[in-house]
Amino acid sequence: MADIRHIYADNAATTRMSKTAIEAMLPYMDKIYGNPSSLYSIGQDAKEALEEARQDVAALLGCSPKEIYFTSGGSEADNQAIRSAALFGAKKNKKHIISSKFEHHAVLHTLDKLAKEGFEITLLDVGPRGIVDPKLVADSIREDTALVTIMYANNEIGTIQPIRQIGAVCKEKGVIFHTDAVQAAGHISIDVKDQNIDMLSLSAHKFHGPKGCGVLYSRLGIPLINIIEGGAQERGKRGGTENVPAIMGMAAALKEACGNIQKNTEHLLPLRNRLIDGLNRISYSELNGDADSRLPGNVNFCFEGIEGESLLLLLDDKGISASSGSACTSGSLDPSHVLLAIGRPHEVAHGSLRLSLGEEATEEDIDYIIESVNDVVTYLRNMSPFWRDLTEGKRPHIFEE
Ligand SMILES: *Cc1c(COP(=O)(O)O)cnc(C)c1O
Repeated sequence: MADIRHIYADNAATTRMSKTAIEAMLPYMDKIYGNPSSLYSIGQDAKEALEEARQDVAALLGCSPKEIYFTSGGSEADNQAIRSAALFGAKKNKKHIISSKFEHHAVLHTLDKLAKEGFEITLLDVGPRGIVDPKLVADSIREDTALVTIMYANNEIGTIQPIRQIGAVCKEKGVIFHTDAVQAAGHISIDVKDQNIDMLSLSAHKFHGPKGCGVLYSRLGIPLINIIEGGAQERGKRGGTENVPAIMGMAAALKEACGNIQKNTEHLLPLRNRLIDGLNRISYSELNGDADSRLPGNVNFCFEGIEGESLLLLLDDKGISASSGSACTSGSLDPSHVLLAIGRPHEVAHGSLRLSLGEEATEEDIDYIIESVNDVVTYLRNMSPFWRDLTEGKRPHIFEE
């Protein structure tokens, strides 16, 4: 029997753990399993390792270890950052928050709640390229703006935001700037001081670390509130016994990923562009988001006359793991808020495909993906009454042929 090919092209949803990360974790499950708050030596050894991990993460982000808080992941870090900045602002009668229409739901749903609690939220347009204009941020800041939160790279369409410029605008106007850097960390460079970032969230499982572990960087001087009440861990800002093995794995994975950014980018960029060119040859299809300012491994397309879910299932049959958008929206019938934000009409927003490549991807994989998507799109269109209407001119096409 021929080998069944398997291509994992959903690295924006999660990644496989690296050997380095797994090895960094093992001793802390087995030999050094003590509670970092305990006074005997296996506790203190775990505590020491934890503080070394904090120093490593701080060095990689360009901040002080005193500005690093370990969390249960990107969602928790987003919640804590936004709620902390909101409360800090509210104490000074600042109850306006600026964000964008295509943030992750960890950000958008937190903002929805804050709106119910009396905050005023402005969600900025991102335009057809999927990029937030720093000038729009500047024009939207008011006397009572407490926080600007804009993601570094979008999780669906991979577009990279002008973070340094947005940070500079906020700094000049004295507004706290938070960025959800979950898709960026370990994939493109981060330097929080150079990029004028006050608060930043990241998540280990998006850069080959373990799931359920993340970081909140918060500049000294911004008072954090607790999302998890409990003991005095994380300088009293995050209760609960630290997940020492996961934190060790995360620090090792981040160090490895940051060290490989240049190499991985050089490998992935030509593959990503080959994939974009190949999918562009399919009729009535379009790339979502800017072609250049995007993550080296991200490709996201809309195909006219296609149901995203069927496309995914048939690609799975061909051994390709892909996504129609974020893992959180798939399974629901609502079209992606990200695709709607860049102006895609509902009909085509349902026919989206996200392929997020891993470092192991080869040119052969890319060609196999292109061929498979082409076959599946053709097959689905031939079966679709909706597509027949389009070809018979009973409905207008949305994309150019
Ligand atoms: C994955 C992701 C998150 C959530 O991170 P978890 O660690 O899974 O909670 C938040 N924001 C973005 C942009 C993401 O891609």
